[in-house]
Amino acid sequence: MFQSTSSQSTTALEGDVTPLPQDHNDESDIQRPRDPTPPPHTPLPGLLPSNIRSRFITPTGTNWSTIYGQTLERILHPITPAHQRDWKSLEGNKFLAVISRLKVTRSAADRVAAMTALEQLLATAFPGNVAIDVILGDTIQEHVHPNSAYPFLILGLTDEETRILKNEVVLANESIATFFYPYDTSLPITDYAVSLEGLALPPSTQNDTRAAAELARFLSSATEITHFIAQHNDNIPFNEVPNPHNFVRWTLSTLRVTSSLVKRRNTGPIPIHNVFIHPPTTEPAAYKRWISLLHGLSFDTRKGTGKPTTAELCNVCKSVAHSEDSCAYAAIPGWPATPPSGQTTPAQPTRGAYGRGRGRGGNSERGRGSRMNPGWA
Ligand SMILES: [Zn+2]
Repeated sequence: MFQSTSSQSTTALEGDVTPLPQDHNDESDIQRPRDPTPPPHTPLPGLLPSNIRSRFITPTGTNWSTIYGQTLERILHPITPAHQRDWKSLEGNKFLAVISRLKVTRSAADRVAAMTALEQLLATAFPGNVAIDVILGDTIQEHVHPNSAYPFLILGLTDEETRILKNEVVLANESIATFFYPYDTSLPITDYAVSLEGLALPPSTQNDTRAAAELARFLSSATEITHFIAQHNDNIPFNEVPNPHNFVRWTLSTLRVTSSLVKRRNTGPIPIHNVFIHPPTTEPAAYKRWISLLHGLSFDTRKGTGKPTTAELCNVCKSVAHSEDSCAYAAIPGWPATPPSGQTTPAQPTRGAYGRGRGRGGNSERGRGSRMNPGWA
């Protein structure tokens, strides 16, 4: 039928060089006419028919919120190298599924519950395809971030179903919410750059604006940055910025900051500042260098020195730079409050019900405030 996923997926994702967030696929966003509802049973190619789509939760806005800092490497990190190799060797269309709120678990009951719920979700989306198979990976023994995703591999999708998952991105009902990532296709580059600690600016909109101004001022005089932008600027819109002398100023004008108080192991809550900058390049190797360049700097400002630090990782959507409490997905009506579970949940869950380290057994990575281990990927 088809050679491999990658050849197949490249076609649809060629536009992946697109700047900035949001668009998992440039085809998808042009026509997502959820409303007005198209006549039933005449689905647009690459989308679920409306009578099936209506069985899933829809995004609050026009599109799903951007997931920041997610890479295939990061998604696959908890899976043992042997199983990663095995997944690679499998033929046919392949997709990765990341279940909202599901952490890396060694509990057999929880794995079965997650897998079953995922199978049911896929059966709802693609009734009639009995070839769909969900593959479970074994997990590495070493520590992973407590909120790290625990990915499943999906096999047996038709080409059309593959296109649909790529366009839909998220399928969710009240029992399970799942993010779908094409296997072996690089994920869209976003403007998330780095998270800093050490700036004496408590979280507020005003202070975030101040932080952004301070950081832009610092970066505009950092020669590493100005040299880098002089060399790598394929993602700067030339029609907006025709003069190369303005590349640095324009790039830094896109810098924005979000912040929150985060509890660290040995201190009280400290402000963490998440820095977003339009990446001057989307060329993969150069983009990687851009990010590591920013991670190697000490951001010397009039409000203290910002040191790159581990970003928050959201358990709900597995994005960096926000917490579960401020997750846009968690706020969607009907979004599941727990992952599929193999154990009966207590009738009235305590505050923060899930994953505050108390949870269903068998997961040694959880809990005890170890979330700030700086070694996490
Ligand atoms: Zn989130």
